[in-house]
Amino acid sequence: MSTIRITKSILVTGGAGFLGSHLCERLLKDGHDVLCVDNFFTGTRNNILHLLGNPRFEVMRHDVTFPLYVEVDEIYNLACPASPIHYQFDPVQTTKTSVHGAINMLGLAKRIKAKIFQASTSEVYGDPQIHPQPETYWGHVNPIGLRACYDEGKRCAETLFFDYYRQHRLKIKVARIFNTYGSRMHPNDGRVVSNFIVQALNNEPITVYGDGSQTRSFCYVDDLIEGFIALMDSSDELTGPVNLGNPNEFTILELAEKVIDLTGSTSQIVFKPLPLDDPKQRQPDIKLAQEKLGWQPKVPLEEGLKDTVAYFDKLLKAQNVS
Ligand code: NAD
Ligand code: UDP
Repeated sequence: MSTIRITKSILVTGGAGFLGSHLCERLLKDGHDVLCVDNFFTGTRNNILHLLGNPRFEVMRHDVTFPLYVEVDEIYNLACPASPIHYQFDPVQTTKTSVHGAINMLGLAKRIKAKIFQASTSEVYGDPQIHPQPETYWGHVNPIGLRACYDEGKRCAETLFFDYYRQHRLKIKVARIFNTYGSRMHPNDGRVVSNFIVQALNNEPITVYGDGSQTRSFCYVDDLIEGFIALMDSSDELTGPVNLGNPNEFTILELAEKVIDLTGSTSQIVFKPLPLDDPKQRQPDIKLAQEKLGWQPKVPLEEGLKDTVAYFDKLLKAQNVS
C-alpha cells in the first residue's frame, strides 16, 4: 500500500539559528517546501549552507519586527535571540522581536489562514517556586530585571497567541522549550553547554557561576525537533502551552564534571559570580506532552554531549586552520 505524502509550504522564522536550522533540515527531509526567514543577528549562513542546494529551500533576509507578505501553509515562529548574552545585547530589540514579531507573524497567519507555532520558553516560569514546572504554573518573573526583555517578551507573545486564538480562531501551537543543546549552537553564545565544551576543548578553566548547585534539564536537539513536529501535527484542539524538554535534571557542577570526563580535558573548574536573577532550578513536567503527543526525549545527556563535543571539536579545528 502506498502512503500519501502531503507537501506543505512552511515558513521558519529564525531558520538560520541553532534550533531553526535543525527544524528546516527536518522539514525538508519530510518532503516539505521550506522558507527560512532570518535577519542573521545570531544565526549564520553556515548553519544552513548544506541546505542551500535544495530546490525546495529558500532563504529570505528579513527582520520579523517588520511585516512580512508571503503565502505558506504553516509558520514556525522561532526568531529571537535565546542566550542571555545575545538577548541582553540590545534588550529593546529583543522585546520588539518577541512582541512585534509575534504580532506580525500572527497577522500573517490570520491573513493566509495558516497554522502557527510559537517557540516559547521555560523562562516564562522565571525563577520557579514550584518544581518541576507544569504548564499550569503562572511563573515567578522579575518584570524589571536583566532577563525581563526576554522573559516578559515571550510571556507577552504567548498572550498574543491566545488572544488571536480566542478572537480570530487562529490555529495556534505554543511550545515552552527547556534548555536544549546540540550541534550548531553558537560557540560564543555564553550558554552553559557550549561554554563548557569550548573551554574544555581548549583546556581553559571551566567557568561555573555561583557554587554550581543550580540545576538545569538538558534536552538534545533531535528530541526537541521531534516534539515540535508532533505538536504542530497534533489535533487543532491542542493549542498548548506544552512543555518540551528533558526532565533529567543535573547541577551545573555535574555538567562541568561530565564535560571534562568526555573531552579528557586538563581544564580546572573555577567559580565566578552568579548572574542576577539566575533561576536556581529548572525541570520540565512533561506529562502533557507524553499524554497528548506520545512524546518524550530519548537521547541521554552523555550521548548528546558526545555528538556536541564532536561538532565543536571540528569547528574549533577548522577555525584554528583558517
Ligand atoms: P538562536 O539565537 O540560535 O536562533 C534565533 C534565530 O533568530 C537566529 O537565527 C537569529 O538571527 C534570528 N533572529 C533574531 N532576531 C530576529 C529578528 N528580529 N528577525 C528575524 N530573525 C531574527 O537561538 P535558538 O536557540 O535556535 O532559539 C530559537 C528559538 O527557540 C528562540 O525563539 C528561543 O527563544 C527559543 N528557545 C530556545 C531554547 C534553547 O535552549 N535553545 C530554549 C527556550 C526557547
Ligand atoms: N552557567 C555557568 N557557566 C557558564 C555559563 C552558564 O555556570 O559559563 C550557568 C548559568 O549561571 C545558569 C546555567 O549555567 O545557572 C544555565 O545557563 P544558560 O545561560 O545556558 O541558560 P539559562 O540560564 O537561560 O537556563
